[in-house]
Amino acid sequence: MRCPYCAAENTQVKDSRPTEEHAAIRRRRVCPDCGGRFTTFERVQLRDLVVVKRSGRKVPFDRNKLANSVHIALRKRDIDSERVERMISGIVRQLESLGEVEVPSAQIGELVMEALRGLDPVAYVRFASVYRDFREASDFAEVLGEIARAPAGSGAGVHGPRGDDDAWVPPASATAKKH
Ligand SMILES: [Zn+2]
Repeated sequence: MRCPYCAAENTQVKDSRPTEEHAAIRRRRVCPDCGGRFTTFERVQLRDLVVVKRSGRKVPFDRNKLANSVHIALRKRDIDSERVERMISGIVRQLESLGEVEVPSAQIGELVMEALRGLDPVAYVRFASVYRDFREASDFAEVLGEIARAPAGSGAGVHGPRGDDDAWVPPASATAKKH
């Protein structure tokens, strides 16, 4: 596994253990060249899925992209990371169990919303508001990332001076905040 910091190719596994209720193997790795440490996960991949975007474009399904969207929605929320990983794996299993190689991106979005609803209401509202407002968006993670980086005053920044998580909640929604 190539080192993500210095690109050296001979990193070493320091520790290897089952995680996510034995659905995955977590490996701690260290790079002998730069001393960098990182973690990799080994998981079963039942089939290669293809995501069909709204534009009709097809791209290989990428678990990391899905995980990225979920993590952005959960930013600053105190949710056990193991639960989050199990949730993501659960979504992937559901997609794999559909019996179809090609999956519309909208269907993935619905599954993520469904799963987030059970996990954390604030993350759910964040994801749902972005997802529903940006039906044409090609990449949820990209859009969510842009909103997270928006300067204070634009009405949507989680990094604003107030550090106010509720900034994500659209005024029309009463799900996470009483007015
Ligand atoms: Zn390195």
